[in-house]
Amino acid sequence: MVTASDSLMIHSAPVQPPIETERPSPAQVVHAISVDVEDWPQSTLDQNLPITDRVVRNTHVLLDLFREHKVTGTFFILGLVAERYPGLVSDIASEGHELGSHGYSHKAVFEIGPRAFEEELRRSVGLLEDITCRRVRGYRAPDFSITEKSLWALDLIAARGLEYDSSIFPVKMRRYGIDSTPRRIHRLKNGLIEVPMSTVTWRGKRWPVAGGGYFRLYPYSLTRRAIRGLEAEGMPAIMYLHPYEIDPSELGEVPHAIPMKTRLTQGLNRKYIARRLARLFKQFRFGPIAEVLETEAVNLAGLRSSSQS
Ligand SMILES: [Zn+2]
Repeated sequence: MVTASDSLMIHSAPVQPPIETERPSPAQVVHAISVDVEDWPQSTLDQNLPITDRVVRNTHVLLDLFREHKVTGTFFILGLVAERYPGLVSDIASEGHELGSHGYSHKAVFEIGPRAFEEELRRSVGLLEDITCRRVRGYRAPDFSITEKSLWALDLIAARGLEYDSSIFPVKMRRYGIDSTPRRIHRLKNGLIEVPMSTVTWRGKRWPVAGGGYFRLYPYSLTRRAIRGLEAEGMPAIMYLHPYEIDPSELGEVPHAIPMKTRLTQGLNRKYIARRLARLFKQFRFGPIAEVLETEAVNLAGLRSSSQS
């Protein structure tokens, strides 16, 4: 979830002429596309709500879109969703996507503490591995909640045998983010690979780009320019989104009271997301995080320390 206050500092970049829009990327950089599979009312409004079949329907819309564009990605699946809808997990896996853990309950890592975190990790990874008989390699924390308060989680993820974490936003926001952490994919001292969300540097500051609320709030041209900028820096984009972000009618249909601010920020531009994704898929090459890590293998062989940005 990304709130409006997280994103107040958006500045529109100059709009490019339309002919620029669909030009294929000259560089064959593989960018990562990831989906955090969760049910919006439960993950955002009230964690005690049941998981509904809306997550199944919305995820299938995304799966159709990915298939149409011959794109595979990484799906970080919430344990509660996997438990309620194991068939959805099988469907995602059978389309060739990589599966990762998004925790079990969608409670913030820095709020639940090490013991509950370890249990959530064990349970959520176990569910996915039991359903698919495939090993889970990656983890993404709910709401990017591995922060300076919860760095202990990185050792627990490594101890669980996972290969990478993709939970840190390398920019300080109100509720999450660590601005002193590298912007690039890097290996931590405990051996775990960290795959940070994409940021760009502009006017001496880091700005979050290429995912979730930022993808909805920014004009498409800005996301495109940001990804081009990352390519110029030799960095793959790490994109993320949620199944609910392609569901424009949800906020008008769920039977819950929704605060006005939440309604504005969480509903904004959902109707454009499927179209924007299709444009992105035409313009850039995307794959799962596992594929991006293969292309980064040389850099991760120990040459890049965690102090470089
Ligand atoms: Zn989430």
